[in-house]
Amino acid sequence: MTPTLNVDLLIIGGGVSGLWLLNRARREGYNAILIEGSQLGSGQTVHGQGFILGQPVIGPISPNDPGLKLLAQMPERWRRHLAGAVDDVDLSQAATLAERTYSWTLDSKKPGGFGIGKLFRRKSSVREATGTPVGETTELPASLRHEGFRGELRLIEGLVVDNRSVVAALAAPVMPYVFQNRGPAVKARDGAFNLRADGREPVVIKARKIVFTAGIGVTVLGCVPLHVWRQHMVMVRGAHLPDDLYVNAIDRDGQRRFNLTSHRDNEGRAVWYVGGALADVGSQFEPAQQIAACRKELAEQLPWVDLREAQFSTVRVDRAAARQRAGVAVLPVVREMGDAITAWPASLSTIPLLVDQVMDMLGSGGVRPEPGSLELLDDWPRPDVADDPWDQDGREWL
Ligand SMILES: Cc1cc2nc3c(=O)[nH]c(=O)nc-3n(C[C@H](O)[C@H](O)[C@H](O)COP(=O)(O)OP(=O)(O)OC[C@H]3O[C@@H](n4cnc5c(N)ncnc54)[C@H](O)[C@@H]3O)c2cc1C
Repeated sequence: MTPTLNVDLLIIGGGVSGLWLLNRARREGYNAILIEGSQLGSGQTVHGQGFILGQPVIGPISPNDPGLKLLAQMPERWRRHLAGAVDDVDLSQAATLAERTYSWTLDSKKPGGFGIGKLFRRKSSVREATGTPVGETTELPASLRHEGFRGELRLIEGLVVDNRSVVAALAAPVMPYVFQNRGPAVKARDGAFNLRADGREPVVIKARKIVFTAGIGVTVLGCVPLHVWRQHMVMVRGAHLPDDLYVNAIDRDGQRRFNLTSHRDNEGRAVWYVGGALADVGSQFEPAQQIAACRKELAEQLPWVDLREAQFSTVRVDRAAARQRAGVAVLPVVREMGDAITAWPASLSTIPLLVDQVMDMLGSGGVRPEPGSLELLDDWPRPDVADDPWDQDGREWL
């Protein structure tokens, strides 16, 4: 007979959503486990840019969207977790890359808009007048104080986190409850999941509630309708690059242009990670063509940075947004169907809200914590934390 394990809660997918939920659920006494089909954070999470903003990162969104008020509270909520001030999810071991972020209205305009706004055939209506104009006393990062700087800067309420370190900080206390599956887990006809690993008998997992925090994987497993589109992100590395840039650049007419975050690779070199509309519009480009487009944009906007010695590479990643009548959802979408909950966070920023909603659903659905043993899985393989895209093996740098 196939060994069977009964748990209160089975979480499928180990990005920030699943790991955050696992921390909360274990803390509240649920016999909860998480299954990951690849590496922790390997979906959108390690490919994200880590902006925790009190406003939407993608559009189009109605300025009357009631979700905007809740979104505005997110930076402060993350700050409390990062300071270790909230017991149930302690992010004090995660790294904050920037305490401030800027919206940069470029002093140039490209004909025609691009990006997700075009996908929905509507223009973002909340992009234009966000942020507080930078005053003479605002302390700017050195690389934005250059005399060659053109355009206008606004401070956006928010911060930037190092996504990989958030995954590692969330995983550390709950690793005994996190298990590797050989590839994406698939629901069997009877509703159970067979946990599989090379050279081992599968273990049947039966759960009172299953939660899909599988990122784009919810398009297969769950019941949240998503718009999925491909982004072609660019990485620029060089020991001489400034590492203090965290900007969302837009056109004078409010169209998104590019987002840039600064990181360090495993060898201590500065890495710029460039996305936003540049990554949307370049999704069809070959890497060399996308690199040329990015090089041109950076040379035009940051002419004082010497890019001659810099090396470039690209990575493609799927991005998605939940559809709703007035554009895309700014808040998490959590749906319950039978014994399964599908949880889509909308953005990294809103993951604490997603977890609140799932925990409320468990309580109101009558799923109470019950004691249980996980002995059967004591020596089961555990997933690693995924590398940042710029540290992944086999990447070609030009
Ligand atoms: C390029 C890019 C930039 C972004 N920038 C920002 C930003 O600056 N700010 C912001 O707020 N948001 C940003 N986001 C969005 C943000 O990164 C995501 O909303 C967030 O990381 C989603 O986390 P998640 O845990 O829900 O999903 P994911 O990180 O995708 O995790 C899902 C996990 O589930 C696993 N999985 C999938 N299917 C299965 C299965 N069947 N069985 C087992 N495991 C499975 C995957 O391997 C993966 O590890 C960005 C996204 C991208 C792609």
